[in-house]
Amino acid sequence: MFKEIISRFKTNNANATNFDVEYNSPRYMNILKLKELDKNTVIAVPDFEIMPEHKLTELERNNNYTAYYKNGMLYDVSPRDHSVSLDENRDIAYNARYIVLDGKKYDLYNSDSILSIELPTFKSEEASFGYVTRNLAYIMNMRAKRTFAPELAIPLVFQAVNLMIRSDISWTKKDYMRHVAQLDGIDKPQYAKYLVAQLRNIVPCVADDNYQKKLYLKRQLENARLWHTDLIEMTSLFTTCSECAKYQSRVYSISGMDKRFPKLPEQVFEYGGIHPGCTHSFNAFCYDIRKKIMIYTTGQDNEADIVYVDALKYSNRPFVDNRTDQEKEHYEKLTKEREKKHRWDYDSLVKYLRRASEYDWICRYLPNMAPKSLGGYTRMKHTNSKNYLKIREAAMELNKELIEEVNE
Ligand SMILES: [Zn+2]
Ligand SMILES: [Zn+2]
Repeated sequence: MFKEIISRFKTNNANATNFDVEYNSPRYMNILKLKELDKNTVIAVPDFEIMPEHKLTELERNNNYTAYYKNGMLYDVSPRDHSVSLDENRDIAYNARYIVLDGKKYDLYNSDSILSIELPTFKSEEASFGYVTRNLAYIMNMRAKRTFAPELAIPLVFQAVNLMIRSDISWTKKDYMRHVAQLDGIDKPQYAKYLVAQLRNIVPCVADDNYQKKLYLKRQLENARLWHTDLIEMTSLFTTCSECAKYQSRVYSISGMDKRFPKLPEQVFEYGGIHPGCTHSFNAFCYDIRKKIMIYTTGQDNEADIVYVDALKYSNRPFVDNRTDQEKEHYEKLTKEREKKHRWDYDSLVKYLRRASEYDWICRYLPNMAPKSLGGYTRMKHTNSKNYLKIREAAMELNKELIEEVNE
């Protein structure tokens, strides 16, 4: 495919020499040879131990909810309230004991049944466009995150991950790592270690934090080749760091041979951006078609204003941080907020999941003593309340030791 495109390009374009040099350079290859996710990969559950049969609770025994899927997309539930849409009936699907996939029925309270699920191909229009919440990968992903009984959680986690790999939804590293955390949360670190090792091998975004950016760049470099252009535009962001401010809103020459524009900085080939975590995008650009580029400036009330500037002139401005003081201030403020919101600490997540898992165990084995919610349980545990001590004692009698937690 790659060679074919080059040869087609060579015959069609007089300036092909620029690209010939570029195509064979290691930095270009680094992006073009980017490994893509193999959707046919299946991660099998390792047989570290024999799982006990799942003991049904009263509630589970009475659960007859069934969800029906075709090509991995939900199309019906039972029981169904026909006065509202399928999406408003979604709770049935999310809590269903049984799923029927392309005519085959599986029991989600039985580990062998979960493991026997034949993974769908998700080859349908519905699966590619929207309706994420009807996607089996999405629904099983949620289900696995809410299941703590190890005999069900382990097979559910592995099947959810396999469905994620196979589906057309773009999952992030965080989405995958959440399942690793689930296995650590139910105190099965051997499975967690195995899963993360498999994911690093199979799912590129887990192995490389810059993967999504690099993949986007790869697509744009391919577009540039198809459009016979050596130019690529770095988009403009209203809020940006000091380093990116120097580089953003410019058109670059990919090969460096089009002297009208600056050469695309080396680090873009390494990170898909100016630095790790850079949120800018690079898009193939045709100067013959478009002479202007869009930039943001600070307008009234410090709001972003859109302005169009001459691509050639603006790309050749000095490489300096040209942000105003207000823009710098705005960036600092936004970064702090973003960091707070997106801070993702694996250890605290596992700690939370351990407690959730413990609460699930109490609901299962000491239903009469269980507080109404996980929040209530957390409070009683952190204050070492009388009721908590009673639960701890009762658990001890069932050979279950509750986790000692230091309240921070
Ligand atoms: Zn930046
Ligand atoms: Zn950036």
